[in-house]
Amino acid sequence: EKFKEGLTKTRDNFSGRVNELVARYRKVDEDFFEELEEILISADVGFETVMELIDELKMEVKRRNIQDPQEVQGVISEKLVEIYEGGDEASSELNIQEEGLTVLLFVGVNGVGKTTTIGKLAHKFKSEGKNVVLAAGDTFRAGAIEQLEVWGERVGVEVIKQGAGSDPAAVMFDAIQAAKSRNADILICDTAGRLQNKVNLMKELEKVKRVIEREVPGAPHEVLLVLDATTGQNALIQAKTFKEATNVSGIVLTKLDGTAKGGIVLAIRNELGIPVKFVGLGEKMDDLQEFNAEQYVYGLFA
Ligand code: GDP
Repeated sequence: EKFKEGLTKTRDNFSGRVNELVARYRKVDEDFFEELEEILISADVGFETVMELIDELKMEVKRRNIQDPQEVQGVISEKLVEIYEGGDEASSELNIQEEGLTVLLFVGVNGVGKTTTIGKLAHKFKSEGKNVVLAAGDTFRAGAIEQLEVWGERVGVEVIKQGAGSDPAAVMFDAIQAAKSRNADILICDTAGRLQNKVNLMKELEKVKRVIEREVPGAPHEVLLVLDATTGQNALIQAKTFKEATNVSGIVLTKLDGTAKGGIVLAIRNELGIPVKFVGLGEKMDDLQEFNAEQYVYGLFA
C-alpha cells in the first residue's frame, strides 16, 4: 500500500503512458517499440538499460508470436523484473548479524536524505526490538550533528557524537566502544557528504572504514549509498564516484515519492550492479520500504 501511494507520480507518468500506448496500437510494430523506448527513457530507466530491455522484448514478442499490444504489457513487466534481478541473487535484504554488533555505514552526498534515512531505519530496528546506536560521523556540515540528534530523540536512540570539526574516525571509534558497552545490536554510522572536495572525502571515508574494520571483525556489514531519485541521471554519476572509492554493498533510493521517473531504480541496479535495498517514499518515520523488484514493477502497473 505504501509502495502504491509513494509511486503515484511514476505510475501516472510511466505506467499511464505505457497503458495509453498499448491501447492505441493495433499491432506490435517498429513504431510501437520506438514509442515505448521513448517512454522508458523519459522515465529515467537509462539508455543502456532501455536498449537491453527493448532487445529482449522484441525477441520475446517474436518467440511467443505476440501480435496484440495488450499482451505485450505483461511481457514488459516480466522483463523489467528480470532486468532488475539481472540473473543474480543480489539480495535486497540487509546483512544483519544474528549475534553481536552489526555496523551499517552510510555514505552519500549532502541533501540526498541520508540523515532522514538513518532516522527511519533506526526507528524500524527499534520497533523490531533491537538496541540501536547512532554515530554522528558528519562532523563537517553545519547542523549535521544536531539534525541526527533530533532524529535520535524522535526515535528514542542514543547518538554518539563529538564536536563539530572533530575527526570522524575518532567519532566512529567512540561510537563502537559505546555500542559494545551497551550491548547494542546495530550501530548506524552517518558520514560527511561534501562532494566539493572529492579526494578528501574519499580519504575520510576510507579512514572511517578502517577504524570500523579494525574494531569490529567483519564490519562494516553494509556500506549503504543514499541517492536522491529526483536527481535522475545525476544519481547514477554520484553512484559511480562512490563505487570507485569504496565498496558500496547497497543503495537506498530516497524521494521516489517526489519523482515521476522511478525508472531510475532499474538503471541503478542494471548499470552499477548494486542492489537497491530500501526506497524512501516520504519524509516521515514510516516512509521507508524494503525494495522488492516484483512488488515495485507490478505495483506500477496495478
Ligand atoms: P542529508 O543531507 O543527506 O542528510 O539529507 P536530509 O536527511 O537532511 O534530507 C534532505 C531533505 O530531503 C529533507 O527535507 C528530508 O525531509 C527530505 N527527504 C528525505 N528522504 C525523503 C523521501 O524519501 N521523500 C521525500 N519526499 N523527502 C525526503
